[in-house]
Amino acid sequence: MTSPCFAEKPDIPATLSLEELGFDNIYTSLPRGFYSCHQPEPLSGQHLIHFNEAAAECIHLDPAQGERPDFLEMLTTPGQWPGTRPIAMCYAGHQFGQFVPRLGDGRALLLGQVRTACNHRWDLHLKGSGLTLYSRQGDGKAVLRSSIREYLASAALHGLGIPTTLALMLSGSSEEVYRETIETGAMILRLAPSHIRFGTFEYYYYQRRFDDLALLGEFVVDHYFGELRHQPEPYLRLLETVVNSTARLIAQWQSVGFCHGVMNSDNMSIHGLTIDYGPFGFMDQYRSGHVCNHSDHLGRYAFDRQPGIGLFNLGCLAQALLPLLDEVPGQAVEKATEVLETYEPAFNRYRLDRKRAKLGLRTEQEGDEALYDDLLGLMEAGNADFTNTFRWLSEPDPLRKDLPNPLGSSRLSENWLSRYTTRLEGDGADPVVRSQQMKAVNPKYILRNYMAEMAIRAARDDHDFDEIGRLMNLLKNPFDEQPGNHRYAVDSPDWSAGLAVSCSS
Ligand code: AMP
Ligand code: MG
Repeated sequence: MTSPCFAEKPDIPATLSLEELGFDNIYTSLPRGFYSCHQPEPLSGQHLIHFNEAAAECIHLDPAQGERPDFLEMLTTPGQWPGTRPIAMCYAGHQFGQFVPRLGDGRALLLGQVRTACNHRWDLHLKGSGLTLYSRQGDGKAVLRSSIREYLASAALHGLGIPTTLALMLSGSSEEVYRETIETGAMILRLAPSHIRFGTFEYYYYQRRFDDLALLGEFVVDHYFGELRHQPEPYLRLLETVVNSTARLIAQWQSVGFCHGVMNSDNMSIHGLTIDYGPFGFMDQYRSGHVCNHSDHLGRYAFDRQPGIGLFNLGCLAQALLPLLDEVPGQAVEKATEVLETYEPAFNRYRLDRKRAKLGLRTEQEGDEALYDDLLGLMEAGNADFTNTFRWLSEPDPLRKDLPNPLGSSRLSENWLSRYTTRLEGDGADPVVRSQQMKAVNPKYILRNYMAEMAIRAARDDHDFDEIGRLMNLLKNPFDEQPGNHRYAVDSPDWSAGLAVSCSS
């Protein structure tokens, strides 16, 4: 069994019905202390808003299943979907730097794992499905606003080729849910190889339940990292693997101006996936210290701090793995430290690769990083749009000169452009080929906050879900020109700067 990956195109046609999906439910092979059993609670007046065919393909589910009148009923009515065995997983985590000993799925259920004919296993995870043992003071619900944002954002990252959970469907309801104002409840069903988080390991470590920790480690290696099973020190290799995939993920986020709003260790996937979209944000104008979460008063998760926070979270994971790394505590710490020390160079390598690719550089030269960083400095000083500046730079030279220059015409920007031109001349690539390659890494379309907000307002105020469908189509191919969609590729309107996105969801 290999871990599935959204990037792989399944070569088996998507023809299965909900009843024909083969369920495996492997998490329930772990002892009861790892989860609690619950049934989903359907929402009153629930209705399907969108069905994501790209996600359905992964599990070979026939997209026509989304048109079944009983589709939502199957997903949300206790006992209705054969093969599912809904559970809430428990985990802990460092939230804004503070350890919280018990979190867990407070409003989500793992319905089970689908095992596909290509021998891949996918978690089906229903979010917004009601109270569980881990709901604490929460109501077990998710609101339409944040569900739309998660649904669109996961599709956007998927389109950009960045590892993420991916939602199969979005549903709304008429059920009132109380946040700062009265909103309505919603659900998404998301897919991922697993929903195991750094915080899942922390849960057992901090309770000193080292036997359970060992069971979890064994489970993770056996089911998701089978290639490590027969290597010496499999848990150290596991840590190494997660360090590497996390470094790569964060370098990818940074390369498209994506900010995760709540980078707590319970929101970090052991598969290096983007998970738990709350107050995320794609940057409009470049700000190195951009904070996308209005509730993050100290800017802990500011854009330029996210790489360092990645290391903090990996430190939390490493700490929790210590008992599995070596019987002698000092040795375990030494081994973990050595692996953690690989994070920064790995991240820097991935980031520099991205920087060169974004600038269209094939060869490597000493000053490349400074060239990129100076461009960011210019953008910040001139309030230039991050995405549109890189897309403008991706145009081949004579064409670019006819387009408005997002960097303005200051002496500094002229100087930078002439440095860049000289560097490109030394790189020797054909300008048309280079432009194509740059356009394949510098997206034309991202999910700007105002775009999600427009879709939310239409859905909430007018029951109009068309914009969600339009954005889902748009974000599938963010690097393509998409001539009918240029309106989404201009700088964000001024009012979007006033949008505040918080933890409330
Ligand atoms: P999040 O910030 O969405 O990643 O959630 C952090 C923790 O709070 C997780 O354990 C969630 O399951 C839980 N949680 C968030 N919102 C709710 C809610 N409305 N009801 C119950 N639990 C919640
Ligand atoms: Mg979370």
